[in-house]
Amino acid sequence: MTEEVDLFVVGAGSGGVRAARISSGYGARVMIAEEYRVGGTCVIRGCVPKKLLVYASRFAEAFEDAAGYGWTVPEPSFDWATLIANKDREIARLEAAYTANLDRAKVQIVKSRAVLLDPHTVKLVATGETVRAKRILIATGAAPHMGADIMGLEHVISSNEAFHLRELPKRVLIQGGGYIALEFATIFNGLGADVTVVYRGENILRGFDDEVRAHLRTELEKRGITILCKRLVEGVEKVEHGLDVELSDREQIMVDAVMFATGRHPNTSGIGLEPAGVRIGRVGEIMVDEFSQTSVPHIYAIGDVTNRNNLTPVAIREGHAFADTVFGGKPTPVEHSDVPTAVFSEPEVGAVGLTEAEACRTLAKVDIYKSTFRPMKATLAGRDTRTLMKLVVDGHSDRVVGCHIVGPDAGEMIQLVAVAVKMKATKADFDATMALHPTAAEELVTMREKAASHVREAAE
Ligand SMILES: Cc1cc2nc3c(=O)[nH]c(=O)nc-3n(C[C@H](O)[C@H](O)[C@H](O)COP(=O)(O)OP(=O)(O)OC[C@H]3O[C@@H](n4cnc5c(N)ncnc54)[C@H](O)[C@@H]3O)c2cc1C
Repeated sequence: MTEEVDLFVVGAGSGGVRAARISSGYGARVMIAEEYRVGGTCVIRGCVPKKLLVYASRFAEAFEDAAGYGWTVPEPSFDWATLIANKDREIARLEAAYTANLDRAKVQIVKSRAVLLDPHTVKLVATGETVRAKRILIATGAAPHMGADIMGLEHVISSNEAFHLRELPKRVLIQGGGYIALEFATIFNGLGADVTVVYRGENILRGFDDEVRAHLRTELEKRGITILCKRLVEGVEKVEHGLDVELSDREQIMVDAVMFATGRHPNTSGIGLEPAGVRIGRVGEIMVDEFSQTSVPHIYAIGDVTNRNNLTPVAIREGHAFADTVFGGKPTPVEHSDVPTAVFSEPEVGAVGLTEAEACRTLAKVDIYKSTFRPMKATLAGRDTRTLMKLVVDGHSDRVVGCHIVGPDAGEMIQLVAVAVKMKATKADFDATMALHPTAAEELVTMREKAASHVREAAE
């Protein structure tokens, strides 16, 4: 039997769920297909379970630091199985809440992989049924990309499997230098594992401000994480007492788990997009305009599958804007500038706007304000750690065009700084704001001295 709908959404992740709910609210008849679990990457195997594991890993330092504040803490012990079971219970609760929200919004959910048969027909693989759709929204997200087919790749896990390990590995090697690699490095490190990060580039966290990259690397190394740059994993062999990893410089490292966090590729293969005429880019991403419309006018795409800014709030915003544009009669483009981002490593990173290097490439005059200090809590704890805060200012307009923080609660702080940056606040506005004492964030409004000033030479 062929059903008819106004909108068929492929993928019930962050973007797809929002788009389906809002479109249905505008009166559209909506069906959404999900091949794995409702909630998508963020809820099931991304942001949420990751942050829960981050919280778990931070207790180790809290127990240690407590002594300086007068506490006597008995030797703490940790049980991985309890953490994973509790995390799984919370994820199941959230999945049920997402499903209930879709039901309440009268969106029809089908638990199946969906593929396009032609530009208006979708096949539900689980049942073989077909659905005719006036409009189709592709919100299939992305999946871990494991790189070249090296020897022993079958022994390597991605972040997907890391959430379900039967036991906590004692020795872990993580390949990758991005936020997922570093977050898992701190999770495993905090929970007591011996962690090595292997990264092919010059330094970790490509794309972030260079001082942030250097500062975070030093802090991670202080916590005992080994970081090996300009190297690659060339092979993994299963031996009696673990996995024998060979690196490109011929160093051998023996570990219990190897995880690759070497990027994610959009989920576009095998779902009938190219035959339907949808244009695909270099890494498999769906090409869209600012309204998320593809090269086929009634087919739209949002979220990670478009590889614009692969973050949950961006996918949600794109999904909402799609519904407003297509079913709400309010054409709504999505702006992708000044998107705040965080790395939930230990310490955390928060960033918004331009890095110093980006500002120097795009602006004629750039002023840098910077502060590094020992967080107050670390004093009695006796912990050797430093916070970095940095403002990048357009020297001509005085606008704060970038803010970069490495330290406790950097993510929480940067969310609010992003409001000021989005409102085009100037350094004078920051200076006029009264400090809140004693906080770390007060440094952001009390930096008086320029740490550097760059003036671009006029073109000859
Ligand atoms: C480990 C990890 C940590 C992360 N941490 C953060 C973070 O802290 N903050 C943040 O903002 N972002 C984070 N992200 C990124 C965030 O999860 C994604 O940006 C977000 O989930 C993208 O939403 P989406 O709707 O585009 O796709 P997804 O949420 O990936 O949803 C796509 C859905 O489509 C389904 N699907 C795919 N193909 C089909 C098909 N043919 N038929 C039916 N269903 C299909 C998939 O099963 C999936 O459920 C993290 C990602 C990972 C992997």
